[in-house]
Amino acid sequence: MTRKKSISPAPARHIPQRTCVACGEVRPQRELVRLVRVSGGGVEVDPTGRKMGRGAYLCPAPACWQAGLKKGRLEYVLRTALTGENRQQLIKYSQGLG
Ligand SMILES: [Zn+2]
Repeated sequence: MTRKKSISPAPARHIPQRTCVACGEVRPQRELVRLVRVSGGGVEVDPTGRKMGRGAYLCPAPACWQAGLKKGRLEYVLRTALTGENRQQLIKYSQGLG
C-alpha cells in the first residue's frame, strides 16, 4: 500500500493562523477576510490586512458573515456596535464573496 505524499506547508516558514469569529475555524490568515474597527466606531473590510485597529477575521463565506453579523459575534469581538447601514455594507460585501 503506497501513500501519496500529503501536501504540507514548508516546515521552515511560519504561516500566521487566525480564527474565524463566526464558525471558529482556524485557517491561514491569507484565507480569511480581516475586518477592522475604525475610529468613530464603524467596522470596515480590510482587504490588505494592514489597517491599524482592532481586527477580527471571517471566512470568505457568506454563511460566516451572516452568522457573525446576526449573532453579534463581530460586534462582541471588535467591542463596537454596528449601525444598520454598516451592517448592510458588510452583508453586501459578503454577498460578493460567494
Ligand atoms: Zn467561518
